[in-house]
Amino acid sequence: CFFFAEHKIVMVGLDNAGKTTILYQFLMNEVVHTSPTIGSNVEEVVWKNIHFIMWDLGGQQSLRAAWSTYYTNTEFIIVVIDSQDRERLGIIREELYSMLERDELSKAAVLVYANKQDLKGSMTASEISRQLDLTSIKKHPWHIQSCCALSGEGLYQGLEWIVERLK
Ligand code: GDP
Repeated sequence: CFFFAEHKIVMVGLDNAGKTTILYQFLMNEVVHTSPTIGSNVEEVVWKNIHFIMWDLGGQQSLRAAWSTYYTNTEFIIVVIDSQDRERLGIIREELYSMLERDELSKAAVLVYANKQDLKGSMTASEISRQLDLTSIKKHPWHIQSCCALSGEGLYQGLEWIVERLK
């Protein structure tokens, strides 16, 4: 069950995508333990038995090699996308596919949050799915969920997908 066994979720996205907002929506009113020492730009939050490890994609190439330690035993990758940010979708696409090639992530399932759906002109989940070519991912279960992290809309549907996969 989701809450009794230990689980590791890696949450990635570009800066400003909404990662922190999503995490805090999940952890609302909970006392959480964070480890600021894990590394610059990498944040770990432990909530119940779930370890969330979070960082910004697209920078810090030099740290990349060290990140494999964070990947070990990862069950889920949550990719957070600012649905208004068309220009940088290509960066996410590249990063996602290079992550999925890693041995440590061979068993990981991928949840994509198409965030900021409240903003005018944002890409729809199906548009993002097409741009990221998600249907080409055959070795990993994946799911895309549109959401608005500010209001919380859609966040739990995404989490539901994760919980279902753990049953
Ligand atoms: P992070 O850099 O990925 O951790 O992004 P943050 O969670 O710090 O969010 C970046 C900015 O986007 C903040 O000003 C948030 O309030 C805003 N933001 C996050 N989610 C949403 C959303 O769903 N809609 C809107 N309009 N703004 C959002």
